[in-house]
Amino acid sequence: MARYVTVDRDECIGCGNCEGIAPDIFEFDDEGLAFVTLDENQGTYPMPEGKMDQLAEAFEECPTEAIQIAERPFNKSK
Ligand code: SF4
Repeated sequence: MARYVTVDRDECIGCGNCEGIAPDIFEFDDEGLAFVTLDENQGTYPMPEGKMDQLAEAFEECPTEAIQIAERPFNKSK
């Protein structure tokens, strides 16, 4: 099943765990907060199957639970 991913930027503390674990998925913006590169953090494109292991590990290692994963696309603005 498809998974959609976004970072809750109100919760992100910019610790770097996610980018360290999954640099193909996460990057940091000018504010020092993480975002999902796939769709500019909109959570509207399904994560490719080959990145799911990295995603799961990053999700586990996020200290603030800022990484949000859902089975349906998010409807939000960055
Ligand atoms: S692991 Fe979580 S808190 Fe740390 S930078 Fe990534 S999203 Fe932000």
